[in-house]
Amino acid sequence: DVRVRFCPSPTGTPHVGLIRTAMFNWAYARHTGGTMIFRIEDTDAARDSEESFQQLVEAMRWLKLDWDEGVGVGGPQQPYRQSERYDIYRGIIERLKTSGHIYESFVTGEEIEARNVSLGRDPKMGYDNFERDLTEEQKAAYRAEGRSPALRLRVPDSELSFDDLVRGEITFPAGSFSDFVVVRPNGHPLYPFVNPVDDALMGVTHVLRGEDLLSSTPRQIALYHALIDIGVTTFVPRFGHLPYVMGDKNKKLSKRDAEANLFLHRDRGFIPEGLLNYLALLGWSLSHDRDVFSIDEFTTAFDVVNVNPNPARFDLKKAESINGDHIRLLEPTDFASRLVPYLATAGVLAEPLTDAQQAILTAAAPLIQERIALLGEAPAMLGFLFVTSAELVHEADALASLPATARDILVASSAALAAIPAAEFTHDRAHVVLTETLIEGLGLKPRVAFGPLRVAVSGRKVSPPLFESMEILGRTDTLARLDRLVG
Ligand code: GLU
Repeated sequence: DVRVRFCPSPTGTPHVGLIRTAMFNWAYARHTGGTMIFRIEDTDAARDSEESFQQLVEAMRWLKLDWDEGVGVGGPQQPYRQSERYDIYRGIIERLKTSGHIYESFVTGEEIEARNVSLGRDPKMGYDNFERDLTEEQKAAYRAEGRSPALRLRVPDSELSFDDLVRGEITFPAGSFSDFVVVRPNGHPLYPFVNPVDDALMGVTHVLRGEDLLSSTPRQIALYHALIDIGVTTFVPRFGHLPYVMGDKNKKLSKRDAEANLFLHRDRGFIPEGLLNYLALLGWSLSHDRDVFSIDEFTTAFDVVNVNPNPARFDLKKAESINGDHIRLLEPTDFASRLVPYLATAGVLAEPLTDAQQAILTAAAPLIQERIALLGEAPAMLGFLFVTSAELVHEADALASLPATARDILVASSAALAAIPAAEFTHDRAHVVLTETLIEGLGLKPRVAFGPLRVAVSGRKVSPPLFESMEILGRTDTLARLDRLVG
């Protein structure tokens, strides 16, 4: 059975590349009927934060990427926060020590450099395994100097290769890495140790993670062999390294780039369906001629062996266009209700909505559903419907766009609209009488004729369809807006 995991370190706000990794693991679990594990790797107290942990959980919930074992839901290997698992690590460290897989090493970083210099080697060459077989006397002498040992894993002296699910066979020649530190002198176990230990204990079968971790894989496989030897697990998982996500100028999208922040996209009005669809395209595709698909289509089709190893470019314009496509696929009532938090944040209305506001929203939402790519565009487009004619603010560029004939147009329109009985004040009737009056009567071009009406009604040069907007406002309010601009 497939068992995959998402195991972020809680530092900073969720990054789109990280969430892409979560999503591919999740999709692989759902595709195969396997198990998704969500573990938190918070062993770096200096960098980890509770806020970041909460944000990771929030991001997963918002995107509906659910997990079967892990934080919040528990499971057979709980707890799922590494900071609560030190007792487990201590037991395994003892077993690896007794069996000789890890050993005490006292040398400091500076001493390693000095040693390389004195042997005529590159100072940065690193540790050369010379403390593998310290005698008890040597160790005692170090201790007498007040030193505490780090623990290093004895790595194989042969080459190491593995078959990456995305990249194919990868070989690390013998000697490409040396015995590495798994536990600091202060007793603190490190990422290259706790990550494979937990993967082993949790029965992870497929490690799908970012390309940046490729260099740690041979070390982790070496540790796996030791864990198999002492009976912690029976197998080495398969590894698949997902491509980098590139930002502008072909540079890796980094946590510092605003576009990397998942919540920024949510706040601008990406919907989960649209963002997930776009993230799925970062290294994968459904077919060459279809960019828009549902999450179910994604999980049905996704297989990690089809992931493209080449760097993927984060293209915000394309992401927005796909989001717009998903917005159009929403049921109208669903779409309307998703606008509410954005309207509330922008101060257009406050939750809970009054019945009157709800009625306006229900009528107005379909007018913009075809027109926006981000929910965050809605407040500017719909705000005019939720204020009185007296409160309406006319944008400066809209006022500046008024032609000299604006006043005549507004006066004539006002008279024509006033003649429609209030109960029959529909967008069709408004359209008909205004066409008769302005186009046929005054001989104006539609753009010239209706521009001033749009400014009067919405305060803006660009608005949802004019006559539908008039219908939603009703006759009295529409006339008041026209009269207000006439002055
Ligand atoms: N905690 C590691 C990170 O966030 C996880 C790496 C892995 O997936 O193995 O980079």
